[in-house]
Amino acid sequence: MLAQLAMPTRKQIRRALLRTLLKNSGVVKEFGTGQEVVDQLADEFHLNEAQRTAALETVYRKENRVKKALLWHRLLFRAADALASEGSVSRPTQTLQLTGKREWMLTEKGFDEALRISDIPLAAKDSLPTKSYEVQKIVKKLLETPRPEHYQPFDTTRKLIRTVRETVLRVRGFRQAVIEVYDFRCAVCGLKINAPDSLCWEVEAAHIVPRGSFGRDDVFNRIALCRFHHWAFDVGWFALLDNYKIRTSSKLSSLPADFGRLGKYELVRALTKRGTGIQLPGSRQAYPHVNSIRWHRQFVFYQ
Ligand SMILES: [Zn+2]
Repeated sequence: MLAQLAMPTRKQIRRALLRTLLKNSGVVKEFGTGQEVVDQLADEFHLNEAQRTAALETVYRKENRVKKALLWHRLLFRAADALASEGSVSRPTQTLQLTGKREWMLTEKGFDEALRISDIPLAAKDSLPTKSYEVQKIVKKLLETPRPEHYQPFDTTRKLIRTVRETVLRVRGFRQAVIEVYDFRCAVCGLKINAPDSLCWEVEAAHIVPRGSFGRDDVFNRIALCRFHHWAFDVGWFALLDNYKIRTSSKLSSLPADFGRLGKYELVRALTKRGTGIQLPGSRQAYPHVNSIRWHRQFVFYQ
């Protein structure tokens, strides 16, 4: 049947699946429910109608019933299953425990291979928001860390971190956790945009106490900001009050009228309206810590 329909080989599907996972931020739904991905992959192989709709019949003797499954789904499943057996993706049952979604998810090993076959340098890993099973584990742990009562936003022990690999994973996990809790938007202006290939988000996980001052990497000392508001925050054009409202610098009054404008939008002046606050994460647990924002107000903000 396979020969007659000239379906792609498992090796070809395996490669296409890795590339698709990379394009979809590291995850694809189970094939039974993820029709979009199933079609996307079928398009990639230019499958015709007969190839897309060919069904396999399995007769369950005991129950005396026939179960029909799409051949294309089955081939995708087998390729994904083989990737899981070699440790390149996590199975939907494993991912479910981590993220609550039934998805195939790249592991670090699969991520490396997906980059290789897509001709993307491995160094790009740090800036890609691709989910990997290992990084998601770190994200989950971070988001479940109880909010500290006596928070110290500095981490002077950072240089003692054990291995390079561990550090790289932590850095990616921390960044991912921050931009995820802010729904990939700038907390100040709400800008949300990714690259046309969906591989990376514009938003950055800005430190409140900067790294150069030994600011911690966790969610309590970070906030998701677009590039412009990240810069404006770092140079002290605005700061946050303890109730997360925004305060702008008094220096704004002497800023030339044509500075800081994007068409009609005033990048900093728009924030001077009383009561303007940032868009906070859905869970209070992930709000920036007041100890961090007080430090920023005192040492970075230009009153
Ligand atoms: Zn912004």
